[in-house]
Amino acid sequence: MSLWQDLLRQRLRQHRDQHLERRLTAFDAVDATRIRTPGAPQPLVNFSGNDYLGLRTHPALLNAITKAPELTAAGAGAARLISGNHPLHEQLEQELAGFFQRDAALLFSTGYVANLAVLQALAGRGDAIVQDRLCHASLIDGARLADGRLLRYRHLDVDHCAAQLNKAPGLRVLASDGVFSMDGDQAPIRELSALASQHDALLLIDDAHGIGVLGNNGRGLLEQAGATQTDVPVLIGTFGKAFGLAGAFVTGPDVLIDYLRNFARGWIYSTAPPLPLVAAQRAALRLLQAEPERRQRLHANIAEFKQAALAAGINLLPSDTPIQPLLIGNASTALRLQHHLQQQGFYVAAIRPPTVPADTARLRITISAEHHSSDIQGLITSIAAATRTTC
Ligand SMILES: *Cc1c(COP(=O)(O)O)cnc(C)c1O
Repeated sequence: MSLWQDLLRQRLRQHRDQHLERRLTAFDAVDATRIRTPGAPQPLVNFSGNDYLGLRTHPALLNAITKAPELTAAGAGAARLISGNHPLHEQLEQELAGFFQRDAALLFSTGYVANLAVLQALAGRGDAIVQDRLCHASLIDGARLADGRLLRYRHLDVDHCAAQLNKAPGLRVLASDGVFSMDGDQAPIRELSALASQHDALLLIDDAHGIGVLGNNGRGLLEQAGATQTDVPVLIGTFGKAFGLAGAFVTGPDVLIDYLRNFARGWIYSTAPPLPLVAAQRAALRLLQAEPERRQRLHANIAEFKQAALAAGINLLPSDTPIQPLLIGNASTALRLQHHLQQQGFYVAAIRPPTVPADTARLRITISAEHHSSDIQGLITSIAAATRTTC
């Protein structure tokens, strides 16, 4: 066997021994909350998706993707700055800017790439990125890609954030998740915005999990906090969560978007999003505005879930969002719980390091607007029984 194979096998074995090995399972959607997988005889109720509003199976989105009558091409054919810029891209960007009450928006292929591209573009040599320690992997990786210095602060700790900002040189980008993806808690937007303005830093919020979910109009955590474009100039969102699709956007002042079009390599050197996807993204944005009852049902379900957990003595991490983590600690215990719940008809993925810090493996339960009361009550009953025997 060659050296490289030997080394890869050895690293994989070590990963497996620590119960950290990843394996791929295929799932098909039966409906908004039920998924089918070859390993299970019956469909499972999915409590591990980010399709919070149940849009991913909505006929309007499927219709937009498959029919899109105005389209004469599937692919964009090139990057936006070459010949790949289609009127649909520009229409969606204008609609996004309008929805979020901001000057302009820019589409990206994914949220992961948007974060890499934006941080790399903004924080050059001599600049700095200050970010919450529990930020999403893409914000961490964006900071690694950027030439600027990375300073992290303790989770939600505004004083530590201020101390780090004091140390930071040059153009300072203060970056945070809005709703934290593995914890479900929320960044203190008003405090961060005050800090950013005191320190003349540029505040960036990645609200992947807040958009569509929080705020009276679904504009996310910034709407809930009453924060404008002036308070938080850089807002990043993804179409992969509440919009039920894939793709992402950055929205903010004209000068920011202009700058990104000139310096964000992850946007410049990448093919523009396929047109049927853009048509579906527009349909999702319309639905998100036209059907606020989805958001209301989601919040009623979150409240029912939390109430039932409390009554059953299940200790969840503090969260008012669809992300409701049950901290387990040990990775192999979390995996055992996942398997146990699957036998009961529920799919809840165990989240293990390095996705979360060491010894904080958890069941990351996510709630959808389309869950029924019986799904929620059934899951709670199964978790209560399982934690009695498994933990
Ligand atoms: C999911 C997620 C991303 C990545 O978005 P994709 O569009 O899935 O690549 C970025 N940031 C946060 C906070 C996320 O939860």
